[in-house]
Amino acid sequence: YDDRDGKIWMDGKLIDWRSANVHILSHALHYASSVFEGERLYNGKIFLSRKHSERLRKSGELLDMPIPYSIDEIEAAKQAVVDANGLTNAYVRAVAWRGAGEDMGVSSARNPVRMAVAAWEWGDYYGDAKFKGAKLDVAKWKRPSPETIPTSAKAAGLYMICTMSKHAAEAKGCSDAMFLDYRGYVAEATGANIFFVKNGEVHTPLPDAILNGLTRQTVIGMLKDRQIKVNERHIDPGELDSMEQCWLTGSAAEVTPVGQIGDWNFEVGDLTKEISTGYEKLVRE
Ligand code: PMP
Repeated sequence: YDDRDGKIWMDGKLIDWRSANVHILSHALHYASSVFEGERLYNGKIFLSRKHSERLRKSGELLDMPIPYSIDEIEAAKQAVVDANGLTNAYVRAVAWRGAGEDMGVSSARNPVRMAVAAWEWGDYYGDAKFKGAKLDVAKWKRPSPETIPTSAKAAGLYMICTMSKHAAEAKGCSDAMFLDYRGYVAEATGANIFFVKNGEVHTPLPDAILNGLTRQTVIGMLKDRQIKVNERHIDPGELDSMEQCWLTGSAAEVTPVGQIGDWNFEVGDLTKEISTGYEKLVRE
C-alpha cells in the first residue's frame, strides 16, 4: 500500500502518498503506542465521522498519549484527504502514534504524538460472505481483561492476537476468527462485534471486555426501532448450539452474515438480511 499515487494527511499537511514515512526509531513501532480508526465514506459522507474522531481522541487519552488535534481539526483532516483523493465511497484510516524523539525507551514522554489520515477505495470486508455467510474459526487466544489492557481503546496493541488468530483462521479456510474473552464468554471477531438470533430475540455480548463498536450501537438502535428485544449479556459458547442466526458488525465489515463458527452452523435468515440491508440504506441517508 505504500507505492501508489495519492495524498495522505500527516501532522497537519497533505503530502504525497509515497512520502508518508516514519523513522525506524518511532516509539510506536517498538512499544505499540498507536491508536487508530476505521471509517467508511458513503456517497461523499463519512458515516458517524465525529463519533470516530471522538473515539480516536478517547483512545489516545486511554493510552496516555493525548492527540494534539481537536475534533474539528480531525474532521477537517479527514475531509481534506477525501477531497484531495477525489473519493466518494472509501475506507478512511486515521492513526495517531508516538514518534521518534529525544529518547528511546519505554517512557514516551519525549516522543511527540503524531497523526495521519489516509483513505482508499475498498470493497466488502468479507468478500461474498454478505450473501453466503462468513465462515469463522474459534481463536485460541482470548480477549484480555480490562484490568490487563484498556479494552475500550482502539489501540494497535490489542490487535496483535487478532492478526495471529486471523492467520490461523485463514489457514483453515475461514475468513475470520471469533474470540472468547478472558472469562470464556463469547467476545468479538478480530475487527467486528457479534450478534445472534434465537426465537425472535437478539443476543450480543456485553461490551465489558470488547470494543463497543459504533456499528454495534447503530444496529442495536435499528433492532429497538423494529421492536426486537436485544439482550446484551454474557454468552456462554455452549449456547451457540441453539442460536439460529449470527452476524458481525463493524465499520469495515458493515453487517455481515455468519454461516459457520467452528462446528456451529447458522442460517442467513430474514432478520439478518433485514438488518444488513437496513444498515446499507441507513449509511447512505
Ligand atoms: N471489535 C474490534 C476488535 C474491532 O476492530 C472493530 C472495528 N473497529 C469493532 C469491534 C467494530 O467497531 P466499529 O463498529 O466501531 O467499527
